[in-house]
Formats: sequence, C-alpha cells, structure tokens
Amino acid sequence: MALKIMLLMELSIMLTLLAPIVLVRGKLASKHPMLLLSAWHSSLLTAALALLLALGILIANGVLAQVEHPGAIGWLDPLAAAILAWGALAILGVIGVRIWWQADALAKEAREAADRFSVFFGRSVRHMAMGRWYVRLVEFPVPIVAALQSPRGIIVSTEARDRLSERELRAVLWHEDTHLAHRHSAAVTIGRLAQSCVPMLPAAERMAQATSLVVELIADDRAAAHSGAGNVASALVKLGGDSETTALRAARLRAGASRAGNGWKLAATAIWAAPLIPLAIAFWPVG
Ligand SMILES: [Zn+2]
Repeated sequence: MALKIMLLMELSIMLTLLAPIVLVRGKLASKHPMLLLSAWHSSLLTAALALLLALGILIANGVLAQVEHPGAIGWLDPLAAAILAWGALAILGVIGVRIWWQADALAKEAREAADRFSVFFGRSVRHMAMGRWYVRLVEFPVPIVAALQSPRGIIVSTEARDRLSERELRAVLWHEDTHLAHRHSAAVTIGRLAQSCVPMLPAAERMAQATSLVVELIADDRAAAHSGAGNVASALVKLGGDSETTALRAARLRAGASRAGNGWKLAATAIWAAPLIPLAIAFWPVG
C-alpha cells in the first residue's frame, strides 16, 4: 500500500514538473501540434489521476482506521492514518478552491467578451451564407475574423472579406471552423486551469501560453488540408499584418509543415493510454 502511494505520488510530481519542460522544447509544436496537444492533455490527466488515487488511498485508509479495521491498514497505526487522511483532504480542498477561483475568473472573462461583442457590433451584424458556413458579417473597417463560443459562430468583418480572395476566405473559415469543431477554447481553458494548480511553476505558464499557439497551428493545418497551404499563408499575411507570429505561421505553412506524415496520428492516439498507468498501479492486486 505504501509503495503504491509513493509510486503514484512520484508519477504525478514527475509528470507535473517534466511534461511541460519536455513538450515546449524543440520543434514538436511546429511539426506535430496535434501530437503535442494530445501529449499535454494526456500527461495532465495522468498526473491528476495519479494524485487523486494516491490521496484517495490515504483517505480510505484514514476512514478504515476510524472504523477499527486494523487489518486493512497493516503498515500504519490508526493515528498516523487519520493524520495522513486529513492532510490528503486538505490538499484536495486547496486544489479544488484554486480551480474553482480560476474557472470563475475565466467564465467572467468570457461573459465580458461576449458583452463587448454585442455592444460593439450589435447593430451592424448581418447573417449570411459563405460557402458551407453561415457567418455573421459585421460592418467594420478593421480586418477581423474570429470564432466565438458564445454566441457560437464565426464572425467576419467587411474589411476582412474585402481583403481576401474567395479561396483565402474559404481557408480562413476552415481555420475558424476547426477552433469550434475541436473545442479549442476548452483546450486553452484546461491549460489555464492546470496552471492555476501549480502557480509557482514557470514551465506550466509557458505550456499554457504554448497551448494558445498550438491550437492556431492545428487550425492552420486543417485549413491547409481543405483549402491549400498557400491560401492559408497568404490569408494570414493579409489579415495579420506583419506580426512575428503571423510571419512564422505563414513561413511554416509555405515550408510544407502541415503535410507531415501520418505516423503522428497513431502516436497521438497511443499517448492516450498513459492514464492507464496510475490505474494499473492503484488497482494492482499486490501491495
Ligand atoms: Zn485561429
């Protein structure tokens, strides 16, 4: 039992400390953004599961000690079991409160963004069909294209529409469609919630920032698969001006990064087996 708790704790701490450092390094984000996002979410789930199982075992031991079931806690005396159980509950409480605070702050941010949208664009919105999409076209002299979760849909400003060719506009709509279809706002939220659990860890903050870029690259790649990498790249430059990130994204598409082989898809699926490790440790019949 003690060995199981130690293994689970070590697994959780190792993943929390190392996964963000390993994943944000190198060219993984640029070459295989989908693999990076899968690896990140899988390692987060594995670390959280390992921690919850370790704390759950400690709490269960404490409860068993209270109902005088000494056989089940052989390696601990009842007082130590009770103290550890209360400690485990306290850790769960602190994590729960941190996540709740951060979720509340993010929900407030989203509400404010939706309010700003309706106040700013409310009167000038026209709904119209563009290709396979029904978008909200707003009269506005600045190029804006965005996927909104609430109210859900794609908005395009008249300036953005006028700057783009039909093919480029289609590429941009595929890009925004990917954000909605793959629930990228949820991926960014998960990154920020995870960061709030380990606020002292700079790597977690970098990972949360990297998530915002990675979802853009995933959307670029899907748009490129449907509308051609050249159209996505030229649309990015026309809409994004000369920002450094835009230039990097366009250069990456022109270099053919979005046409990476299919091996990564298998790896991105296989990596979801990782959460089975803490379950196997916790429920292994020996220990
Ligand atoms: Zn985007």
